[in-house]
Amino acid sequence: MPEYTSSYAKNIIKRSLREIIDPGPSKKEKQTIWDYFGSECAYCGKRLHKGRREGHIDHLVPNGANQLYNRVLSCKECNGDEKRDKSWKRFLAQKRSNVKIKAKRKAKILQWQKRHKKPIFRKGVLSKVESLQDNVISYYERNVEKARRLRNKR
Ligand SMILES: [Zn+2]
Repeated sequence: MPEYTSSYAKNIIKRSLREIIDPGPSKKEKQTIWDYFGSECAYCGKRLHKGRREGHIDHLVPNGANQLYNRVLSCKECNGDEKRDKSWKRFLAQKRSNVKIKAKRKAKILQWQKRHKKPIFRKGVLSKVESLQDNVISYYERNVEKARRLRNKR
């Protein structure tokens, strides 16, 4: 698999358009996330080192809001390889930790969400952005197809 797959590119396109109306956490807010989760992965508890760029600011709901309500500190494994599009509650429940620890982690995430208001967007704004994303994605996909046909002619 190439490093820059078309699904990766589509994800970046979607995110960059969404960021315009729904900006991600500032540097200061990222520090707030690190502090709240005590430099540990919110899902598995793995110790993370900020200086070594080990922490990811994961979306609880994939492709959901970029603001703090929907963001937690996560290790690379939980964020990238494992969680994917699962709901965070289901993902947490499937972790190989004891029940008490998992309940504690879940409570900590719910507490985090209580502290940070769920963002509200003006009616229709999100669906307009989704339609812009769809426009770019379909244009992109048509050109990916053209590039694939060129590959076959190499
Ligand atoms: Zn983890």
